[in-house]
Amino acid sequence: MAQRVVPKAVLPWRQVHLDFHTSEHIPDVGARFDATAFAKRLKDGNVDSVVLFAKCHHGWSYYDTQIGARHPTLGFDMLRAQVDACQAAGIKTVIYVSVGWDERSARDHVDWRQVAPDGSFRCLLGGHLDAAWKYICLGTPYLDYLTAQIDEVVRAFPEADGLWLDIIKQEPCCCVHCQAGATAAGLDWLNEGDRDVYRKTVLQTYLDRSVQAALAVRPDLPVFHNTSMVPRGDRHFFESFSHIEIESLPTGGWGYDHLPMAAKYAGTLPYDRLGVTARFHIVWGELGAWKHPNALRYEVCAMLTHGTKICIGDHLDPTGVLDTTSYQMIGDVFAEVEAKRPWCEGSVNIADVALLSAVSVRSPGSINRADRHAPEDEGALRMLNEGHVLFDVIDADADFGAYRVLILPDRVRIAPALKTKLDAYLAGGGKVLLSAESGLAADGSGFALPVGAALLGPSPFNPTFIAPRDDLRPDWITDPFMIFAPSLRIRATDGLSLGAVHEPWFNRTPHHFNGHINAAVKPEPSGYDCGVRHGQVTYLAQPVFSLYRELGSVAVKRYTLAALADLLGAPTMAVEGLPAAGTLTLRRLPNGHHVAHLLYATPMLKGQTVLGPLEVIEDLPAIGPIDIRLPGGTTAARLEPQGINLPVVDGKATVDRFACHQMVVFS
Ligand SMILES: [Zn+2]
Repeated sequence: MAQRVVPKAVLPWRQVHLDFHTSEHIPDVGARFDATAFAKRLKDGNVDSVVLFAKCHHGWSYYDTQIGARHPTLGFDMLRAQVDACQAAGIKTVIYVSVGWDERSARDHVDWRQVAPDGSFRCLLGGHLDAAWKYICLGTPYLDYLTAQIDEVVRAFPEADGLWLDIIKQEPCCCVHCQAGATAAGLDWLNEGDRDVYRKTVLQTYLDRSVQAALAVRPDLPVFHNTSMVPRGDRHFFESFSHIEIESLPTGGWGYDHLPMAAKYAGTLPYDRLGVTARFHIVWGELGAWKHPNALRYEVCAMLTHGTKICIGDHLDPTGVLDTTSYQMIGDVFAEVEAKRPWCEGSVNIADVALLSAVSVRSPGSINRADRHAPEDEGALRMLNEGHVLFDVIDADADFGAYRVLILPDRVRIAPALKTKLDAYLAGGGKVLLSAESGLAADGSGFALPVGAALLGPSPFNPTFIAPRDDLRPDWITDPFMIFAPSLRIRATDGLSLGAVHEPWFNRTPHHFNGHINAAVKPEPSGYDCGVRHGQVTYLAQPVFSLYRELGSVAVKRYTLAALADLLGAPTMAVEGLPAAGTLTLRRLPNGHHVAHLLYATPMLKGQTVLGPLEVIEDLPAIGPIDIRLPGGTTAARLEPQGINLPVVDGKATVDRFACHQMVVFS
């Protein structure tokens, strides 16, 4: 089928994603819905767009449908009433259809369910008999049912401002339909590689047919498919999207690193972007649980620092009534968004450095949750954020020439196409920071880039210890310090050594061990180098980024950031006094002015759920002073939205104190 071109959307700034997953066991659904009160509460919450439900994860529809089934205890066309109320109040409406979860279909058509290679039905965080959402396979006749629903709902709501398709999580599947489809395509569904090939076919067919169904009726309709992440490295995937939404509930398994990762990557793609957090304490579906308003404020301000528009998730009570707590919280934070919008609208990120996502190279387009949190990518992101480096996250299709330094973290081996592109980048004056396997040829046989060192194979020791040069070592450590990860052995040839590697007397094995953790370091250096700089290329022989993600060693971070600073030279803009938990971004407005965003909070680890660590924000302490060296070519600094001019002395301005988020505009 010829693919439709999805028109690009310009998104609203203050959206609410109004979940409404409602079991048939709940009585009197919508019985207290009042159109006037519904619209008024959204208006009071400063909401300018709302995602409303046509069909939920339970598989019930909330409009008068001939294709599906209206919720059995809902007595009227609630979606029509909601849309009418919002239209009258000037609030945009986006129509939600659950795709990958549909409990009603899972019950009525067991053959439509995704089957894992071990023969089990795929469910979210549970098994077939648990209270767990059941994954539907998009390679089954369900796709006909779904596209008929899309056709119906798009016709029924011609005034809709968008179509929101959820749970696009097609995994390798062994259902009877995929068995037949794979076989017909000449593939073996018992073979892992073949299963993934067929999975991609099923996913692309879903994208094509869902878009076709919507755009055949409404060629201008914005369409979004939610994978719960922004897959990196397959730009073709987004051709079925009108825009990108970044679902990222920090307490719900995404963590506080996910938004910057996804937003920085999405910011390099030609789409408008919306960040999505929620008012819940942990995650979607909590009826009657709220995070502290300071957490919501921080999460929303974080989106502003990345230039995304804002969406806050809520869940409508089954009675059809919006609660007061949520809309007080949302109203306050959306008022702040509206006040700050003039210094965010149309802005682009300014970056000295680009983090070439390792996942984007080794698993392009992966929608696998583990790849969402690849340790080498997240570790690098953390270091750069904490080091207040101005950076983007990119894939191999990006324009490398836009950056002064590229970082290839830990696991980016260099295939021929990437080598050609990197060679041209280096020839044009670009610089590259490599670590561990990054920079090796695809087969690992040697370096594919001119690092100025000989590769002598993997070190037999773990841990090893490094003693960086004085200008690169952490300022409080004067002894060799531990690298608790496998590393490579190199020896500088025509490159300049970054320091020495020391080795322990022996590894901890069943044959021999020493003390609690490791055998002591031998006093004499091993003769190997911990890293090397050769002109425009710096190579670190340890997987510093994954290591930082796993173990958080400040010593490793400081050393790595020092090696980066040595390679980069003077940054476009620098700050002093901002703690590691603070982040810095610099964005350029359409009028040419630059806006520095200072952001600060300290999420604290308070618990653990099946989704991941639970980090909570309660306080937003004020910090300062922060000294800022102005970007080149600017001479004036002003706090916004306060409109207060800052004195500029010797190219520096000082923000005395701020809490959470402060914009400084340079002109
Ligand atoms: Zn299947």
